[in-house]
Amino acid sequence: MRLSRYFLPVLKETPAEAQIVSHRYMLRAGMIKQASAGIYSWLPLGFRVLRKIENIVHEEQIRAGHIPMLMPTLQSADLWRESGRYDDYGEEMLRITDRHDRDMLYGPTNEELITDIFRSHVSSYRDLPLTLYHIQWKFRDEIRPRFGVMRGREFLMKDGYNFDLTKEDALHAYNRHLVSYLRTYERMGLQAIPMRADSGPIGGDDTHEFLVLADTGESEVFYDSQITELKFGDREIDYDDRAQCQAVLEEFTSRYARTDETHDEAVFNQIPEDRRRVARGIEVGQIFYFGTKYSEPMGATVQGPDGKAVPVHMGSHGIGVSRLVGAIIEASHDERGIIWPEGVTPFHVGLVNLKTGDAEADAACEAIYAALVGKGLEPLYDDTDERAGGKFATMDLIGLPWRITVGPRGLKNGVVELTSRRTGESEEMSPEAAVERVA
Ligand code: ATP
Ligand code: MG
Ligand code: MG
Ligand code: MG
Repeated sequence: MRLSRYFLPVLKETPAEAQIVSHRYMLRAGMIKQASAGIYSWLPLGFRVLRKIENIVHEEQIRAGHIPMLMPTLQSADLWRESGRYDDYGEEMLRITDRHDRDMLYGPTNEELITDIFRSHVSSYRDLPLTLYHIQWKFRDEIRPRFGVMRGREFLMKDGYNFDLTKEDALHAYNRHLVSYLRTYERMGLQAIPMRADSGPIGGDDTHEFLVLADTGESEVFYDSQITELKFGDREIDYDDRAQCQAVLEEFTSRYARTDETHDEAVFNQIPEDRRRVARGIEVGQIFYFGTKYSEPMGATVQGPDGKAVPVHMGSHGIGVSRLVGAIIEASHDERGIIWPEGVTPFHVGLVNLKTGDAEADAACEAIYAALVGKGLEPLYDDTDERAGGKFATMDLIGLPWRITVGPRGLKNGVVELTSRRTGESEEMSPEAAVERVA
């Protein structure tokens, strides 16, 4: 992409309404624009990051054997009356009446809708196990939308639902989700710690939240510092292997890690004092096992091997896709701007032409650009005639992992400059070597 033809409305001033760094940088880098309270337009740069995150989520869900689909944002209130949640959900639910006076709502979550789909089409235990998921916009009329996309009213969520014959099977689905989430967040350059949590309005017994540690997080968390040393890494997982998934769950949940809702001071105090941590975290996902809470009232049953109809065991599993954009920035930035992890960066490399209009510099940039594209990379080429300082400030703000700087002086010696956004270190090398290094 050539910056001269792109739409990157960078702001010079820090918007007064932004209280936390991710919100400030997202506005300044031209990633989002507020449409109304808690509702945002995703401008091209922000949209690229959102799509990268979505793709990682899809890849990891499909790897775990879960099946993508798409349900609508608007739902009929009748389904929610069946589960009893139409009255229970309260003011966070945006309720709408259509022209025929039918009660509708903008879905805050999809347990009812998916259970209705399931009961319409599945009737035998032979069709289980089944996990369906989608990535779709949700609406919750949050009392205090704030921090930009971190607590929006409209937000993008991946929500998946498992259907199983027995509790044991459903707990395997729970473990599979936990494992796939660990992989998912690590690919985004994040450490998200599974913590024992409270189930809230979704209901159920077993639940973990995934938290990214950050001072600006809204949850208070308590944990054993040993947990931050765990890495999922590139281990091979067979998602059908129950023992393997269970072992990963035990490895990642055996140390103390809880949110304030489930925190137990007495248990916490048994950890050696130098390992006790009290901090803040951003909830980027949550998994639930809730048994037959929806299948029973809504009549989602299957015929078991003995011919008897039994309600299915279910769970639901969410990832805050749009919140993750903010969470990643909270976890990875400096005073000059964002520092994107490689896995989610909107462009792989920024190419800065220090003297646009200089025939030699232009030609060198064009050649590097073509070579990068040839390697399957997505470069952002600053071919504008802004002064060098402004170009560097923009590249630092938008946080691409690499910058290749091309100017007439270097070219005389056959070199360009390669700069790492994370370390700030620069090195001179031939254009070919720079392309090789970032590929
Ligand atoms: P929170 O405690 O932050 O209100 P939640 O527990 O109500 O979140 P869940 O029902 O668990 O949310 O939804 C799954 C995920 O969706 C959350 O883990 C979070 O990452 C994301 N999410 C929830 N509410 C919002 C919101 N208002 N804006 C952006 N993302 C959200
Ligand atoms: Mg909430
Ligand atoms: Mg929560
Ligand atoms: Mg939650």
